[in-house]
Amino acid sequence: VDALTRAESLIALTPDYPEPGVLFRDVSPLLADGPALRAVIEELIRPFEGTYDIVAGIEARGFLLAGYAAALGGVGMLQIRKAGKLPRPAAAVSYELEYGTATIEAPGVLREGERVLLLDDVLATGGTLAAAQSLVTELGAVVAGSAVVLELTDLGGRAVVGDVHTVFTA
Ligand code: IMP
Repeated sequence: VDALTRAESLIALTPDYPEPGVLFRDVSPLLADGPALRAVIEELIRPFEGTYDIVAGIEARGFLLAGYAAALGGVGMLQIRKAGKLPRPAAAVSYELEYGTATIEAPGVLREGERVLLLDDVLATGGTLAAAQSLVTELGAVVAGSAVVLELTDLGGRAVVGDVHTVFTA
């Protein structure tokens, strides 16, 4: 079995988390496996080679993906954080959750027109990734692309975020 196929099998299905009726996809075992993780990161960034200047990770698992990708590509990393964690946020975007709203923030480290590759683990409704795209734009930078490890196709996130590269679908 090749490393990508094995990586997919390492995403653990977790029923009733974080609440009853939700089937949560837990990438923890995949992140813990060196060859599987490497194969996933390489596939995650493959279509974007030469098209971005910096990699953005969405808190928290996106940080792990972006750190690895940034190291492989020899570029820097942008933190996209949940509200209230950064000492000097330069921009904030709020978005709808099933119950209530959430806000993400980023530091003011991007140059005008800098090309940002956005990474996260799972695309569900698309709200989080769409907000991250808006945040990058609000900072005066450009979204070079968006990529996730796993897209949950039934939730329709792709229609919300536009073009997104996915390693696995479920
Ligand atoms: P969305 O905003 O509904 O697309 O949800 C995506 C965000 O929630 C991402 O930052 C994911 O990390 C997280 N998320 C949603 N569903 C799952 C899941 O099943 N497993 C892991 N993370 C999830």
